[in-house]
Amino acid sequence: MHDCIIIGAGVAGLGLGWQLADRGVDVLVLERDRAGAGASRAAAGMLAPTAELEFQEIELLELGRASLEMYPEFVDELETASGMDLDYRTEGTLVVAGDRDEGEALDRIYNYQRRLGLDVEKLSTEAVREREPALTPDLHRALACPSDHQIDPEQLIDALVEALDRAGGMLRESCAVQKVRCEDGQVRDIVTEDDEHLEADRVVVAAGAWTGQIDGIPSGILPHVRPVRGEMIATDLGDPPVCEHVVRAPHLTRPDVYMVPKSDGRLIIGATSEERGFDSRLTAGGIFELLWGSKRVLPALYDRHIQDMWTGFRPVTLDGEPVLGPTDIEGLWLATGHGRNGILLTPLTAYGLVDAILEDALPDVLEGFTPTGSLQ
Ligand SMILES: Cc1cc2nc3c(=O)[nH]c(=O)nc-3n(C[C@H](O)[C@H](O)[C@H](O)COP(=O)(O)OP(=O)(O)OC[C@H]3O[C@@H](n4cnc5c(N)ncnc54)[C@H](O)[C@@H]3O)c2cc1C
Repeated sequence: MHDCIIIGAGVAGLGLGWQLADRGVDVLVLERDRAGAGASRAAAGMLAPTAELEFQEIELLELGRASLEMYPEFVDELETASGMDLDYRTEGTLVVAGDRDEGEALDRIYNYQRRLGLDVEKLSTEAVREREPALTPDLHRALACPSDHQIDPEQLIDALVEALDRAGGMLRESCAVQKVRCEDGQVRDIVTEDDEHLEADRVVVAAGAWTGQIDGIPSGILPHVRPVRGEMIATDLGDPPVCEHVVRAPHLTRPDVYMVPKSDGRLIIGATSEERGFDSRLTAGGIFELLWGSKRVLPALYDRHIQDMWTGFRPVTLDGEPVLGPTDIEGLWLATGHGRNGILLTPLTAYGLVDAILEDALPDVLEGFTPTGSLQ
């Protein structure tokens, strides 16, 4: 019998697992593949609530800002707990418009960001090219979002695994949960693919885009979470690096493209946003769009070498908001539906849910995101 079983070792499950173990809870994290194998290792690692702001996403913005504020402390704590360095970078994000229409759209978003009091600055083409000389001179507008940071998701996962272990928590990889058995309105146990039955006072479903595949939970309890596929490319950064900031190039009719330089010498280029279920095959069209969109604003990319390409599945709910907290089934909790913001929301998910579980005190900022309050 464990105090807590967490299903899924992405950033949501591992962050919460580490925090629980650190407070003396007997926690077991079950992962059917290897830690981070879902969306988490596929991510670019942008922590960018300002640059990624979309109209009508005020609640998500508040959530993202609250989590971003926690990041420096979270990184310090995790580096100490794991003994590993995390590539947390604070150069900020530049958003660039490649033509006049995109420039107009950028102006509208800038006015909205300013009205919300966000940390954003308009830059002339000359000023943005002083910060990133390899950007094309043909830009029509640019914004700087200095408070939007980034982290390396691979290192984040590795550090969370190590910290969980050092805190006395357990991780079992290659162990798929098939079913959560519920009886009389409470969790009885979980059943693995190998028909092993494991009991815990609490079970947390943190299975990302695969949340709906877990059997046994009465209907209406789990939110509808679907996979929104993203294709990604890694090139080498070059010497000197083609860029040092995160660069975003929103497009009006084609996928927005971003370029994220990493300290290990990679440049991550992402990402498409596709409704193709769990098909993990790369497409010529997706890769073409990423290369076209990135080379358009950063022409020097033409000579960089492709190192890797992959797909990942964002766990997206009907209203695009995460679902965090206790359900109507006693002992059953959810930490899922983080969509395109799961890396950003890692500290808030971990700290917020650990307080909710151990002190019965859900932080105010999570109020609108509980399973009972969310759109099913
Ligand atoms: C291409 C791409 C780029 C992204 N870029 C960013 C970004 O820049 N910034 C940002 O904040 N977010 C980004 N995201 C979003 C972010 O990656 C996700 O929101 C986040 O990783 C979700 O974490 P999670 O732990 O909820 O899910 P996951 O990482 O998917 O973890 C769920 C885990 O559960 C396991 N699992 C599933 N079913 C079972 C089962 N039955 N039994 C046991 N284990 C199971 C899976 O194998 C998986 O490892 C991006 C996502 C993609 C796809």
